[in-house]
Amino acid sequence: MLLLCIISTIHTLDAIGTLIRLLDMGIEPYLVSSSVTGIIAQRLIRKICTDCQGRNKECQHCLGNGFRGRMGIYEVLRVEEELHPYILNRCSADMMRGYVKSGGFTPLYSVLQQKVAAGVAESDEFQRYVWYADKTTVV
Ligand SMILES: [Zn+2]
Repeated sequence: MLLLCIISTIHTLDAIGTLIRLLDMGIEPYLVSSSVTGIIAQRLIRKICTDCQGRNKECQHCLGNGFRGRMGIYEVLRVEEELHPYILNRCSADMMRGYVKSGGFTPLYSVLQQKVAAGVAESDEFQRYVWYADKTTVV
């Protein structure tokens, strides 16, 4: 048995967006569902300065901008058999997101919410990096 692992990058807003992009590129749905096993979407977000918590305009560590460094946030989508009908029927991204969320999938939006709640990132990052999110349907 030959196992073939291909790792590639594609620019989309989220993991589900990758499936939609592949379909939009003309790849047959049966090929997408049978060959894609997992997708990791990532964003780099700015970290709030740990020395001044973003509150000191004269902070020497962040030069007064309130941020110091970046960190990755990720969402991991396992493309399991239960998701295949959504791909084969070319369902909308919102339908796919709704389905995977019911199975325990944690979207980027929720990961960012956790980082904001923990005081690591500011809520401005929602506008900067997770712009697809419709809070009423995704989260
Ligand atoms: Zn600072």
